[in-house]
Parts: sequence; C-alpha cells; structure tokens
Amino acid sequence: MVHISVDTERCVGAGQCVLSAPDVFDQDDSGIVLVLEEPADEPGREAARQAGLICPSQAITVKES
Ligand code: SF4
Repeated sequence: MVHISVDTERCVGAGQCVLSAPDVFDQDDSGIVLVLEEPADEPGREAARQAGLICPSQAITVKES
C-alpha cells in the first residue's frame, strides 16, 4: 500500500505528475494538483512514485506502508 499526499502550496502546476500517473493525479482549473485515487496495483504505485520523483517542486509525498 502507498499513501499519497500533495502540498498544494508547493505545486507550481507543471503537470508532470498527470503525465506520469494520469489515473492518480489531475489538476484543478488553476493547474494545482489533485489526487484522484490511491493506486491499487503495483504499476499504479510505481507511476505515483515516479511522479513524486519528477515533480519539479517536490510537492508529492508517497509513503510506503
Ligand atoms: S508535477 Fe508537481 S508541480 Fe507539477 S502539477 Fe504535479 S504536483 Fe504540481
């Protein structure tokens, strides 16, 4: 299991997370990140981890549990 949290104050709306994990992340009308759902399978979890790594503002935290 992973738990995903986002810091909307840090998010700069770059959209890299949505490109990396479109099932997990979306952006609101201002471009700020939204978490759609926690990934239920390993490919989804890996995509979420990648999104956390590539986010230019380090706004995504993926906690393993
Ligand atoms: S990649 Fe980071 S900065 Fe860009 S929209 Fe996602 S959370 Fe925000």
